[in-house]
Amino acid sequence: MGEPILRHSIERFAGAPLVSKLQVVIREAHTALCSQAAADFDLPPAIVGGTTRQCSVRRGLAAIEDVNPDFVLIHDAARPLVSPALIEVVIAKLIAGAEAVVPLLPVTDSLRRISSGEVGEAVPREGLCRAQTPQGFDYKKIRSAHERFAGANATDDIALAERAGMRIAAVPGEEANIKVTAPGDFAFAERLLAGASEVRTGNGFDVHRFRAGDHVWLCGVPIPHDRGLEGHSDADAGLHALTDAMLGALAAGDIGQHFPPSEERWRGAASRVFLQHAAELVKQRGGAILHCDITIICEWPKIGPHREAMRVSVAEVLGIDISRVSVKATTTEGLGFTGRGEGLAAQAVATIRLPA
Ligand code: MG
Repeated sequence: MGEPILRHSIERFAGAPLVSKLQVVIREAHTALCSQAAADFDLPPAIVGGTTRQCSVRRGLAAIEDVNPDFVLIHDAARPLVSPALIEVVIAKLIAGAEAVVPLLPVTDSLRRISSGEVGEAVPREGLCRAQTPQGFDYKKIRSAHERFAGANATDDIALAERAGMRIAAVPGEEANIKVTAPGDFAFAERLLAGASEVRTGNGFDVHRFRAGDHVWLCGVPIPHDRGLEGHSDADAGLHALTDAMLGALAAGDIGQHFPPSEERWRGAASRVFLQHAAELVKQRGGAILHCDITIICEWPKIGPHREAMRVSVAEVLGIDISRVSVKATTTEGLGFTGRGEGLAAQAVATIRLPA
């Protein structure tokens, strides 16, 4: 869906409640692409990997030494469709005492050996399984296995766990958890991704009345004006409309339910708190904010000079790239309450993606 594969993988793990740290390991040539893909997430800088998969994993494991976690999950970023359920099951198995966990799927196609381009003998598939990632491990044990067998060039980490004599448990893998390797896999992954998530939109609308004052808050930016806006909080109609749009996309009520004006603690509150709360709710549902579009409706103050500052402010509160934030302005041609300068209005649309 026009997004880097890495981004999808990061999203799945960033949304997992039991995952406390995410460390990306990448080829040096891809560091710029990687920081672009991970821009919206609060991640440590990517680690540059080695010449083999095994070497890259070893460096990744060393990079999280400061956290010294109980468990570590090692995942091929080329599997963007790993489900939250699989991540949870692997972790649960580790908590239950397994030293190493591998998701396995049975081989269902019949197998044939090809030798020198010729179709050769049938290979019995009984007892054969396909190993997927994420594979989960006791952190200290897999780290020492990696140090001990540094030159082994193993195909995956379970192979090293086996050599190190760790207790290995299996969990059922997922057919949808494909590894995107051949060009044709991209289209297949996109179809699966479209089915694994849903895109939702919500809209919000808000009005505040002008009163005496010397500035107004709009989209988190103070704008000098010959009047202020009346309201229980800082009366930032732009952020209120956007907060309502996000709550609308979640079908989670409205801003008044979450932050009742009857509550004294919200008096004069900075409205970014409301928006942060809505963004947190999206994150808790394992979702992502794809885009938002805010329109401010007023004759004065002029929005144009502050538009970019507003976009920066909203992008920062939501933790998304500025290219996903639009701020527009319009007048009502002198008509109605905004035309008469009695107040201003804002409307917003938010688009989010949630796991299906
Ligand atoms: Mg309001």
